[in-house]
Amino acid sequence: MLIVLHHAATVKDIERINKTIAKCGLKPVAIPGAERTAIGVIGNQGWIDDSPFRENRAVLEIIHVTKPYKLVSRDFHPQDSVVKLEGKVTVGGKSPLLMIAGPCAIESYGQILTTAKFLKKCGVPVLRAGAYKPRTSPHSFQGMREEGIRLLNKVRKETGILVVTEVMSPEQVDLVAEHVDILQIGARNMQNYDLLNEVGRTKKPVILKRGLSGTVEEWLASAEYILLAGNPNVILCERGIRTFETATRNTSDLSVIPLVKSISHLPVIFDPSHATGKRKLVLPMALASVVAGTDGIMIEVHPDPENALSDGAQSLHFREFENLQKQVALLADFAKKKLKA
Ligand code: PEP
Ligand code: MN
Repeated sequence: MLIVLHHAATVKDIERINKTIAKCGLKPVAIPGAERTAIGVIGNQGWIDDSPFRENRAVLEIIHVTKPYKLVSRDFHPQDSVVKLEGKVTVGGKSPLLMIAGPCAIESYGQILTTAKFLKKCGVPVLRAGAYKPRTSPHSFQGMREEGIRLLNKVRKETGILVVTEVMSPEQVDLVAEHVDILQIGARNMQNYDLLNEVGRTKKPVILKRGLSGTVEEWLASAEYILLAGNPNVILCERGIRTFETATRNTSDLSVIPLVKSISHLPVIFDPSHATGKRKLVLPMALASVVAGTDGIMIEVHPDPENALSDGAQSLHFREFENLQKQVALLADFAKKKLKA
């Protein structure tokens, strides 16, 4: 529920309303805004009786929110959220377009060190690389797991690059959060609610990928779990959805970038590698996402894609990545965004 207040409402009025909310066993969320002052109400599991508030002269309007998410919505937080990754690196709002790149999986120390050094040279602030890999077949490479996390942390310390990696189960969260800068929830785990609650208890930035068949409403409701558990640092990532089409690995749903940004304040980034599954399609779709207003791009790049242990067909060679970065920078500039490390 949203309680919209008259312009003339005083601090005392707000305190009084907050007390009434608490008396009802609910929680107030302040929603400061240039155009209106409002108080969000959370903690209910159904319809809220608004009669204790209706009589209050400071209340202009009461809006019942029936969507399965509140904290992630623009109703509760009208301004864009800017998620701080580290130091000056941020994503969302007026931040420069964020570039994240790296191999699908950590395969060796040499492989991620080479990639990290290359990315540093290109001015890319974040290295992606998976240690725990959710593979369709149990016979496929499952990732280097704990050893991979330690190698990633070593490279992070040696090069100063920020790192993001996937967590697949609640039990992995503490170890992974201790060694990396950003946690990733993969598409297959978008609705793993125990995992969402667990990453919500950390304060680490979380990249929440859209599920293979996740609707926008389900995706935002999943993000709501993380915010409700106490972590506001969520970055949504569109990575293509499952449709009847098999010519591409997934169907890129670029329309969700402007759509989700209109209903949620969270940053939205795009992963053209998993969205297409084809190296040749990564550049045009990355460019398209810039035009659609993406806050960042996550790209798979590998020193030797032909011999990658996972997702080689969609991974760029270093020279292809350099070209992509140049073209994205030109377009981002044109689109009045600055691409900066
Ligand atoms: C990945 O980023 O390597 C990955 C497994 O992505 P997704 O969860 O989107 O399939
Ligand atoms: Mn991958």
